[in-house]
Amino acid sequence: MDYAINWGRIWSLWPVHIETACCSVEFGAASSPRFDVERFGIIEAFGSLRQCDLVVVQGTITRKMAPRLRLVYDQMPEPKYVIAMGACAITGGLYFDSYNVLPGIDGVIPVDVYVPGCPPRPETLIQGCMLLQEKIKRMKARKFV
Ligand code: SF4
Repeated sequence: MDYAINWGRIWSLWPVHIETACCSVEFGAASSPRFDVERFGIIEAFGSLRQCDLVVVQGTITRKMAPRLRLVYDQMPEPKYVIAMGACAITGGLYFDSYNVLPGIDGVIPVDVYVPGCPPRPETLIQGCMLLQEKIKRMKARKFV
C-alpha cells in the first residue's frame, strides 16, 4: 500500500514557488522544453496552496519574509516537502552576513533536499527533485491517509 500511494505522490508533485531572486530563472529553464522537468512528474501549474505539496525556495529570504514563508508552508496539506534551491536559500549565500538575511531557510521550515549552486543548473535541480522522489519512496505513506 505504501508503495502504491508513494508512487502516485512521486509522479504528481505540485510545487509552489517562492521566487525572490535569480535562482528562479534557472527553475524557469528547468521547466522549458529543453530540460522539461514535468517529464519527472514535477507539475508546473497550481491553483491554490491547498493543492500543493512541494515548496521550492529560490533565492534570498529576509527576516521580514520568514513569517510569510512559514505561513505558506502551514497552509499546505500534509504530506508536504521542501527543496532549498541555491546558496541563498541554503545559507544566505552572498548575503550571509547581512543583518536582515536568514542564514538558511531550515530555521523556518524543514528542508528535505538542498540543491547547491549559485545558481544551480537545471540538471542539478532535476537531480534534487529525483533525490526527493527517492526520499518519498521510503516514507510511510499511510501516516497521512
Ligand atoms: S544562489 Fe546565486 S543565483 Fe541563486 S538567488 Fe542567490 S545569488 Fe542568485
